[in-house]
Amino acid sequence: MNQRPSPRESVALMAGYHSPQIEVDVRLNTNESPEPPPPEFTAELTTALADVAWHRYPDRSALGLRTAIGRCHGVGPEQVFAANGSNEVLQTLLLTYGGPARTAAVFEPTYALHSHLSRITSTDVAEGRRGDDFALDLGEVERVLASQRPDITFLCSPNNPTGVVDRPRDVATVLQLVTDIGGVLCVDEAYGQFADHSALDLLGAEVPLVVSRTYSKTWAMAGLRLGYLIGPQWLVEELEKVVLPYHLDATTQIAGTLALAHSEAMDERVARLVQERGRLVAAMAELDVEMWPSGANFVLFRPRSIAGTDVWQALADRSVLVRNCASWPRLDGCLRVTIGTPTEDDRFVAALTEVLT
Ligand SMILES: *Cc1c(COP(=O)(O)O)cnc(C)c1O
Repeated sequence: MNQRPSPRESVALMAGYHSPQIEVDVRLNTNESPEPPPPEFTAELTTALADVAWHRYPDRSALGLRTAIGRCHGVGPEQVFAANGSNEVLQTLLLTYGGPARTAAVFEPTYALHSHLSRITSTDVAEGRRGDDFALDLGEVERVLASQRPDITFLCSPNNPTGVVDRPRDVATVLQLVTDIGGVLCVDEAYGQFADHSALDLLGAEVPLVVSRTYSKTWAMAGLRLGYLIGPQWLVEELEKVVLPYHLDATTQIAGTLALAHSEAMDERVARLVQERGRLVAAMAELDVEMWPSGANFVLFRPRSIAGTDVWQALADRSVLVRNCASWPRLDGCLRVTIGTPTEDDRFVAALTEVLT
């Protein structure tokens, strides 16, 4: 028998990144919006799709979509790079500014895809640590940046999976350190609408900063696969060289543009989720768990008396799915629950109560 071809070594050693998608009643494991986008949006999209010239390639530069996104942030389309989910945005950033003999810095615990995508693109990972409270430790950031001189530095605020929102002056300090070593700072703001400040305020024509956002969470459109970053024009131009031609299909461009007209519904959804988060946290505070204050639509917690993985399984047995973070860097025994509808959250609390008492 012939030997099977083998993937390159870094891929062979890689564990895939995935959240198990098992069949359950209550799905609180991937930080999606528990509510769909407004019905008006769905109706508008259906109408608009009737006019698509399906035999033609879509607008390669996605100018209409990028203009609409830019308008939301007070910038022109030349400062917007969009792709199929913000993960593709980050991958394109790594393909452009990372790669062999280059380095990306992450500060754990943080979003696993930052280091995973780095490895996929053969970018070395410089792993720093956040402080004990999971806030940024500026001394540590300075040490990692000075010793590793990363080409890309990732921050995530609000941070997934901890929910920590970085202080604006800390982000500004990191940006200065990154600028001094000639790197790029990427602030992943997938949950940006939950925070009252944004790294978008630090953008500038010659500032090596990009801020990434997604339609998957607050915009309630994980099914669409659309994300973007805002950054300086010269950087966006480099990304456009690397991404596949026509990577954004016609449907995505139309849906992404139409969605932005419903920002009020999005803001209301975010406000409801914040309120519901307060209710969920209050209920969980009655149980034997350690919890971290969250500035996003999820809560990180650690059961005190039973191993996290056992609690995860016991919840799954009760048809409630949360994220098992127990094996992630520095998150020994931790689980992460997404804020759902009040009904879903009640089911979760009831199941957790049963498991822990
Ligand atoms: C969910 C999430 C994303 C979103 O990825 P998409 O590819 O846009 O669905 C990006 N960053 C963080 C930190 C996330 O939690």
